[in-house]
Amino acid sequence: MKGRFAPSPSGRMHLGNLFSFLLAWLSARHAGGSLVLRIEDLDPVRCQPAYAWQLMEDLEWLGLTWDEGGETPSSWQSNRGHLYAAAFDKLRLAGLTYPCFCSRIQRLNEAPHIHEISPSCPCAALTEEEIAGKMAEKVPSFRVKVPHETISFVDGLQGEYAQDLWTECGDFPIKRADGAWAYQLAVVVDDAAMGVTEVVRGRDLLSSTPRQLWLYRALGLPAPAFYHVPLLLAPDGRRLAKRDADLDMGALRRRYAPEELLGILACLAGLQVDAAPVSAQALIPRFDWKKVPKNDIFVPKNLVS
Ligand code: GLU
Repeated sequence: MKGRFAPSPSGRMHLGNLFSFLLAWLSARHAGGSLVLRIEDLDPVRCQPAYAWQLMEDLEWLGLTWDEGGETPSSWQSNRGHLYAAAFDKLRLAGLTYPCFCSRIQRLNEAPHIHEISPSCPCAALTEEEIAGKMAEKVPSFRVKVPHETISFVDGLQGEYAQDLWTECGDFPIKRADGAWAYQLAVVVDDAAMGVTEVVRGRDLLSSTPRQLWLYRALGLPAPAFYHVPLLLAPDGRRLAKRDADLDMGALRRRYAPEELLGILACLAGLQVDAAPVSAQALIPRFDWKKVPKNDIFVPKNLVS
């Protein structure tokens, strides 16, 4: 059994990130499994190495250890492009990709009320000659052709989840025009290549999972088990985000000792009745997915102010 931490180093970690990391860590350790730390720095504009080093230090401060990855350069997505390119070729040779010449703005205008991706990109119907002509003028992005199929799975925490890929998602991008690989492709390739058997992450990614399950199938790769954990909400109902400096690790470390912070997280996770200080190790035997709430959690006011 192998779990993983897959942070994007686009800011200092906040309480919500820690909450999912603690559950990922506890689930793996409770099962006697290992953990890999992968740095998801696909987006060169938003991601900075300094945030990655900082988050490793923050995880160590809390006692959330990992067994592979981390500082190893090959566990940073920016160094794994060859693996994404190989997977892309496999999809391309299977006839599952097409170049898309639309600009993002153009696509938003086409389907402003649905979502960023309309199911039927006009580029899917271009002939080889039309593609060759357009290629001479513009570098395309690439999309995968999704089937008219409902993909369902049982999430370890959220239960059954189903999505019709064509109507609810549409042909989605796997490579941007600037050459950057899409999260959906990279995460599937990496979790499979790293032998990850269990993915624990925020509920905001639940709706990405059917796309990923379809990619696992299309690439002939084994899919892990999934647990989508609640998001932490500020008292006004907003999701905590990296811009909420009041609950980022910098502020939290000034205010709490590691065991105090873990006590708060353990209480929010249903693993203890109050926020009594506790070590990460001491939580391992107490861990049980049955105790963990499914729905998003309001962070108590006294933590935010
Ligand atoms: N890197 C993503 C994030 O920080 C998480 C991806 C995943 O867990 O699949 O939001």
